[in-house]
Amino acid sequence: MKQKNLGFNSKAVHAGTMDDVRNSAISPIYQTSTFRFDSADHGAKCFAGEDTGYIYTRLGNPTIKELEDAVAILENGYGGIAVSSGMAAVNTVYMTYLGQGKHVVAHNSLYGPSRGVLETIYPRFGITASFVDATDPQNVADAIQPDTALIYLETPANPTIGITDLEAVVRIARQHQIPVCVDNTFCSPYLQKPLELGVDIVLHSMTKFINGHADIVAGMIVTKTKEEYQKLRPVMVNMGFNMDPHQAWLTRRGLKTLGIRIEKAQENAIQVAQYLEQHPKVEWVLYPGLSSHPQYELGKRQMKGPGSMLSFSLKGGFEAGKRMMDHVQLALLAVSLGGIETLIQHPASMTHSKLSKEAKETAGITEGLVRLSVGIEEVEDIIKDLEQALLKV
Ligand SMILES: *Cc1c(COP(=O)(O)O)cnc(C)c1O
Repeated sequence: MKQKNLGFNSKAVHAGTMDDVRNSAISPIYQTSTFRFDSADHGAKCFAGEDTGYIYTRLGNPTIKELEDAVAILENGYGGIAVSSGMAAVNTVYMTYLGQGKHVVAHNSLYGPSRGVLETIYPRFGITASFVDATDPQNVADAIQPDTALIYLETPANPTIGITDLEAVVRIARQHQIPVCVDNTFCSPYLQKPLELGVDIVLHSMTKFINGHADIVAGMIVTKTKEEYQKLRPVMVNMGFNMDPHQAWLTRRGLKTLGIRIEKAQENAIQVAQYLEQHPKVEWVLYPGLSSHPQYELGKRQMKGPGSMLSFSLKGGFEAGKRMMDHVQLALLAVSLGGIETLIQHPASMTHSKLSKEAKETAGITEGLVRLSVGIEEVEDIIKDLEQALLKV
């Protein structure tokens, strides 16, 4: 059957599956660092690119390739590049497109280290960055400089759940011929396909929804074209950002249930968001599935569903945030997201504590902001847990 014509969940289960010589239902793990050549001539052809045979796992491996193909098919892209972590994906993109004298326009509310490296490490190599509120695309247009070499976005953004109009940003980027990269971690290809909206590069922390079981750290880059793929792949290979075959195998297994996990978590999140929105101790809730979200209509147009990530602000501020964290019982007090279990964290005292007060304010991170990654437990239990923790606030 042509895999191209299959629906999402069918692709999630079957896409990219290798032809195993022993007909195993589940692909084996090629837990090997290196591959034997048939002859000197074969080895020479592999190195010359005239034979697709594998050489060395940092360069490529069948188990890793299966995962790369599967995610690329789900994102509707040309090819996937699997890496050891989400940050390895982010840095592969930065290192490919940025260099001495180059400039990046990035959303102001990014995953902490995605912004942090641009502020602390890349300036040492002569690279500058402007952080703007990309939820208004005009801000992106205004920040473009002659040496801007990359536009880097997250939508919905972490942890403010702000939504950026990808088609609008792509139109601006095209005028200047600047590649656009979107961190699609919060949505996964189940909810959002940025490449179909004109974006050039998508990346994932597969640690989150794609693996989905909080037992792997992994990353992936998918490009729309062969040209971008060929720019990125050697950077990954030569920087040593590669994945391990066992990590790839487990991630491929997690990916199979991506659609049904997101559906269940989303169903729960809609009810949790409605519950929180009417709670007297909660100032506001940011969730793309609530009509109170400032970009509710854009979210509906751009995403297949509102997902399972939400943020809310406690009226009691910083101390209330910390007290709530100390009293949750079912929800795990932990960073990360997109797993089958409900996770809760307090950005002001945790993930975003290193940001200056001003940076927190411009990024919309209030002192009482709580970020919730809703899991697939029974929704009654999740709400009961939040209820008892909020009583202690
Ligand atoms: C977790 C995360 C990353 C980093 O991924 P790691 O796998 O932890 O390296 C990047 N972007 C987003 C949006 C994330 O949530």
